Amino acid sequence: MRTYEAALEVLRSRARPLGKEVVSLAQALGRVAAEAVRAPSDQPPWANAAMDGYAVRSSDVASPDERPPLRVVGQVAAGQWPDQTVEPGTAVRVFTGAPVPPGADAVVPQEDVVETPAGIQIGRPVSLGENIRPPAEDFPAGTCLIPVGRYITPADIALAATAGQDRLWVYRVPRVLVLASGQELVEPGQPLDRGRIYDSNSYLLQARLRRLGIPVERWPWLPDRWEDVCQTLARALDQFDVVITTGGVSVGAYDLIRKAWESLGLETLIAGVAVKPGKPLWVGTADGRWAFGLPGNPASAYVGLEAFVYPWLWWVQGFPGALPYRFPVILSQPVQNPGGRTFFLRCRLHVRPEGWYAESAGPQGSHIVRTTALSQGLLVVEPNARWEVGTVAPALVPEAHPLDLLLAGTV
Ligand code: AMP
Ligand code: MG
Repeated sequence: MRTYEAALEVLRSRARPLGKEVVSLAQALGRVAAEAVRAPSDQPPWANAAMDGYAVRSSDVASPDERPPLRVVGQVAAGQWPDQTVEPGTAVRVFTGAPVPPGADAVVPQEDVVETPAGIQIGRPVSLGENIRPPAEDFPAGTCLIPVGRYITPADIALAATAGQDRLWVYRVPRVLVLASGQELVEPGQPLDRGRIYDSNSYLLQARLRRLGIPVERWPWLPDRWEDVCQTLARALDQFDVVITTGGVSVGAYDLIRKAWESLGLETLIAGVAVKPGKPLWVGTADGRWAFGLPGNPASAYVGLEAFVYPWLWWVQGFPGALPYRFPVILSQPVQNPGGRTFFLRCRLHVRPEGWYAESAGPQGSHIVRTTALSQGLLVVEPNARWEVGTVAPALVPEAHPLDLLLAGTV
């Protein structure tokens, strides 16, 4: 059985981007850049005024001595191009963002100017370049604005727009199907017969993937019957890039998912991981299609999702970062993990100025759903750990997305 780190490494090394597509700027948010964006020209392209005021020659107003007013020979608003030159003894009225007319080398804010019938009086010395934004100050032509692999934020979209781009090349998002399996399952809203339970896992998966901006479909739960399982999984693999199931991957007589995937020709990449909860996790692949068999216990499905499916979803979109990002948290309780498996402890987080404090969110049994809802983090407790109060330990913080993508980004 692989360790947590080794299983993650298998996913990382095998995940390949599914392809590229071009999308409008508005659709690019939260996607991963598949092609770099380079600046086609300098930004700003020409020197422009940083203030509403007057473009002047600084040598005309360098000394504080008595001097004649500067004659105002014209004006330039933002969006116009100047058609006059600032000759000695003259000024041109300019507005913020307007190109600075030739001859001028400073802009004096209008607040510092007294307007007279003969021209403007400036009661202070003016220095060269004052209130002028030089060309290329933001970025010169050819600058790489968005590198390949960049997780696209609102500011990146603004940057691309500044450079005149209306579209971006991004990696394709996987088409995801979630599918709960288990004879005992009942759809919420239906009456519950004796011995049966409501399906919560497929709702967890669907909601989580939606939160990540990934379109996801959910099919009705799958009974533990060999023919049904094989037929449904074959149909699913045909239509989706990844099929995420829950249940049916451990060693019981009704655990058919793994056998069904293998009979459909999938190569087994992971069959069991030394984690708690979530040990029976199974992952297979064939021809660029993927199957994640998460265990059925709700906490096991949750850990499988956050610890393995989540990073894979970004790697398969070409994100190069080390995921899932592990945030440092401070223990407000001692934590022990006597077993040989990495323990994902559902914890509550308290944000304080000196850091995030973590404590257990409740009973940690893999069947317990409420603890998950009360938690904000998954403390990653290494095998054989005996951690005292105050220890700084790593935690996954699912709702911190996209912060963890940015923190773990290499670009
Ligand atoms: P399995 O992995 O199929 O052996 O299931 C392990 C445990 O998880 C059993 O107690 C199941 O009843 C429970 N379980 C399986 N699937 C779900 C589901 N979709 N929602 C909630 N509990 C489930
Ligand atoms: Mg089952």
